[in-house]
Amino acid sequence: KKKIAVMTSGGDAPGMNPAVRAVVRAGIYYGCDVFAVYEGYEGLVKGGDLLKKVEWADVRSYLSLGGTHIGTARCKEFRERSGRLEAAYNMVINGIDALVVCGGDGSLTGADLFRSEWPSLIEELVSTGRLSSKQVAPYKHLTIVGLVGSIDNDMSCTDVTIGAFSALERITEMVDYIGATAASHSRAFVVEVMGRHCGWLALMAGLATGADFIFIPERPPSAQNWKQELKDVCSRHRAYGRRKTTVIVAEGAIDDELNPITSEEVKNVLVELGLDTRITILGHVQRGGTAVAFDRRLATMQGVEAVRAVLEMTPNTPSPMIGVLKNKIVKYPLVDAVKQTKAVATAIDNKEFDKAMGLRDTSFYD
Ligand code: ATP
Repeated sequence: KKKIAVMTSGGDAPGMNPAVRAVVRAGIYYGCDVFAVYEGYEGLVKGGDLLKKVEWADVRSYLSLGGTHIGTARCKEFRERSGRLEAAYNMVINGIDALVVCGGDGSLTGADLFRSEWPSLIEELVSTGRLSSKQVAPYKHLTIVGLVGSIDNDMSCTDVTIGAFSALERITEMVDYIGATAASHSRAFVVEVMGRHCGWLALMAGLATGADFIFIPERPPSAQNWKQELKDVCSRHRAYGRRKTTVIVAEGAIDDELNPITSEEVKNVLVELGLDTRITILGHVQRGGTAVAFDRRLATMQGVEAVRAVLEMTPNTPSPMIGVLKNKIVKYPLVDAVKQTKAVATAIDNKEFDKAMGLRDTSFYD
């Protein structure tokens, strides 16, 4: 009987629970035993109670549960070979040789590295006498399948990551709340949203709420005149009779000289315009809460596809990342997706902003 482990890793995202539920139930449906790894890679490294077989009923009500119930963590030990050796040991003694990881590019990079090292890790476990050749015989290869869970929507080669639409919904709701009070007092608000080096949340929230101005890292404004441009746009909107000013700033916003653009700086510009201006940093409310229907469906379809991918894979198949392109669930070589994701950061560092936007490879930027 095939034994599959499922884990969540890196930053939590709404929809991770529905993804875990789908993997568990699809796994059981296809006749596998499914194990949950608790606390991200820490669960693999430490084993014991952090690696447990789960049944159909254990994931009951996961669809409407925010965060990730099986926990997530950043695990230093897994970055070292010694930690991955322990992880391999814990998997083999539980008879597991397939792992579905739901996380960001870091987690998926770690997973792929683990897979490529697996034969040598197994060899070391035998040569040091911790496991016998007979014990390891059925576990010559490790199967890895990646699901992308991240509110940032920062992974290339997929249009959307699990959690992004839930965070966007939350931001939109919050900006609407802020808009009501802003218009009452005729105030300006600078709203800082998450997304790290990816402006998707800021851009989409800006469109959804009709913001006056949006700052995202992939389309940086001119270092020389962004302040004047901001003033011009906001005053023009005020002149049309708008009673509020809303500026959305991605946390990774920069100008075209790569200097960070902070919410404080933006506020100071609006104050110079004579606007009574406040800053709202939305913070972790964007990550918490339950997944919107879109993410529940995405996580469910992708979780099922992940189990199918596990069952179809041969030792020579590159580890797949389950993505979605033009509304179709697709498999994409994980290593290539991670490489392209990292290339975005490099393009931004080289001031190749158009290239960065293209490398995001999401139909939302078309
Ligand atoms: P998020 O997008 O939310 O940051 P992430 O998966 O990119 O998610 P990371 O903190 O980069 O988050 O990675 C999570 C964990 O994955 C790390 O704590 C570590 O255990 C493991 N990991 C990340 N990168 C590697 C790597 N290059 N080699 C081995 N393990 C890694």
